[in-house]
Amino acid sequence: MEKLLTKEQGRAAIVKMGHKLIEKHLVAGSWGNISCLTENGLIAITPSGRGYENLQTEDVVLLDKAGSVVEGERIPSSESKLHTAIYAACPEARAIIHTHSIYASALSAMHQGVPAIIEDIVQICGGRVNCAEYAICGTQDLADAAVKAMQGKKAVLLANHGAVCWGKSMEDALIVAEVLEKAAQIAIICQSSGGKVYELDAEDSTIMHNFYEAHYSKRQMGEE
Ligand SMILES: [Zn+2]
Repeated sequence: MEKLLTKEQGRAAIVKMGHKLIEKHLVAGSWGNISCLTENGLIAITPSGRGYENLQTEDVVLLDKAGSVVEGERIPSSESKLHTAIYAACPEARAIIHTHSIYASALSAMHQGVPAIIEDIVQICGGRVNCAEYAICGTQDLADAAVKAMQGKKAVLLANHGAVCWGKSMEDALIVAEVLEKAAQIAIICQSSGGKVYELDAEDSTIMHNFYEAHYSKRQMGEE
């Protein structure tokens, strides 16, 4: 795996990703939040209630693994518990993006996950993405429900809320977020058309995901 980012690199990566999420229409206003792991096991995370357009590197807060503020003047994201719980549960996670993207949120409103109906979502996320049991935003119950429903995938939907995705780098987490939203949109188009949907076989999905992780993801990161 690549070297962990320094605190300064982590702060800059979060500001840059905030702009990308706006460009890609995955977030609006100050909704959603972004974090990444940095040296010494610290977590750089977006502050609460600040829009991404004008976010400055000094606004980014640094937390320890338990979620206590180590550096920064701002109040950390209200979903800090969700982020710390995912880093604790997924040792490969280096970055987390939580969005309220429209199609993923629509499926989450129906308490439905994102079905494994297109090859790219199984390659990148690892198969069907579940929807976690409902819990109020910002709570430990939400963090626990999200981790429970993740089941080895790189994303999970939060009931009546949105999506949370992790990656082995910030760029990897962005790819997960984009593919998840695209698959959610396709699922809703299929449901609206009333046609029969054929979900990919779990065994085939695992083969495709393992191949992606072994080859394509490294190529995308310039490691192969
Ligand atoms: Zn949220």
